[in-house]
Amino acid sequence: MPPSLSRRWPVRHSIAAASFVLLVACAEKPTAADAQPLQAPPVATAPAIIPPVVPSADPLDLQPTQTFAEWQAGFRKDALAAGIRPDLFDRAFANVSFDASVIRADRSQPEFSRPVWEYLDGALSPLRVRKGQALINQYADILQSIEQRYGVDRQALVSVWGMESNFGQFQGSKSVINSLATLAYEGRRPGFAHAQLIAALQILQQGDITPEKMLGSWAGAMGQTQFIPTTYNTHAVDFDGDGRRDIWGSPADALASTAHYLQSSGWQRGQPWGFEVQLPSSFDYTLADGAMRKSVAEWRQLGVTLPNGGQVPAGSEQLSAALLLPAGYRGPAFLILDNFRAILKYNNSSSYALAVSLLSERFNGGGLINGTWPKDDLPLSRSERIELQNLLSARNYDAGTADGIIGANTRKAIRSAQQSFGWPADGYPTHKLLESLRTQ
Ligand code: CA
Repeated sequence: MPPSLSRRWPVRHSIAAASFVLLVACAEKPTAADAQPLQAPPVATAPAIIPPVVPSADPLDLQPTQTFAEWQAGFRKDALAAGIRPDLFDRAFANVSFDASVIRADRSQPEFSRPVWEYLDGALSPLRVRKGQALINQYADILQSIEQRYGVDRQALVSVWGMESNFGQFQGSKSVINSLATLAYEGRRPGFAHAQLIAALQILQQGDITPEKMLGSWAGAMGQTQFIPTTYNTHAVDFDGDGRRDIWGSPADALASTAHYLQSSGWQRGQPWGFEVQLPSSFDYTLADGAMRKSVAEWRQLGVTLPNGGQVPAGSEQLSAALLLPAGYRGPAFLILDNFRAILKYNNSSSYALAVSLLSERFNGGGLINGTWPKDDLPLSRSERIELQNLLSARNYDAGTADGIIGANTRKAIRSAQQSFGWPADGYPTHKLLESLRTQ
């Protein structure tokens, strides 16, 4: 038994709705820090997303108050009360044991983040584009049926498939029951993991999958779509008609389940996700905020144009759009529409949604970016972000909790500091800002 299991310290965890931490299975995905988060809808129902948590100053103050065996006995009562059969529970838990690697992953707070341009280079690799194009051809009939039933465009479905599991190749190889039991016992969000574990047992009880084949990421995201169990229960579908919702082994089920989720998230078939734009000189960069919505026509009245004299997609003038600057005012700019926001409900990271959007266009030869990335301006490290937050708050720009997460409060504080220096107020954290605050 690891030392941590013999300690009996009080459980403490807190949740902040204003910020979020992405915990994802695939190393290629961004952390919250290298994404520019939008004012996004609640994330609790999203497949690959874990609800927000403020990292504890001292990870050791999260120790459980009981042994794993005591926890399991108590959880068994909860599961039976929720309608899980005793024989099913005992079979599912036959080989379950505490997995310290899951807890390490849950508590890991990487010091460095990948720049968004590097993340996009990996996400949009020529190999992935070619593989996606081949799969769009291979599954043309199934994708057409799915489009007709759910109204979600096939390029977007195959793009999500590529981003979530590299088209089924990387689904995670951990027992979902084992990982979620470990997280319910000693993770940072025991209540969330508890609910996911009950949902996972319900899936087993419905007979969709066996405990041995119910594999996923350390965080409990499962199969080719990386659905968490509660999302599986609400949105997974049996599209190939074999009687089981098999998001692990059946691309038809996985793609249709993704379509069902995007349909519920407001996907509009045939609408663009958004498009790259150019901003006029002396633009008011405080408008670049996910919460600031204007029609495409209103943005155009503010001087927003398309690169190379391009025209906005037909019919999009009255659509509600927000301005996204993934790397601040020096980098590319995008107007993002409802379908982009639907992708954010899948995974609440603007870098992820941009990758899905651009990849879906690359399948048809588009999706290239005209603007240039500020590659001389690497993202701040986690400790630099915390230092920035402390410096901002010390100068009465309230950056909220100094947790290293650039959320709405921190972006607002950054804008105030930028305005005091007479700089473009894009809310993007840079080394230049950090240096200026250090020496001020
Ligand atoms: Ca099926």
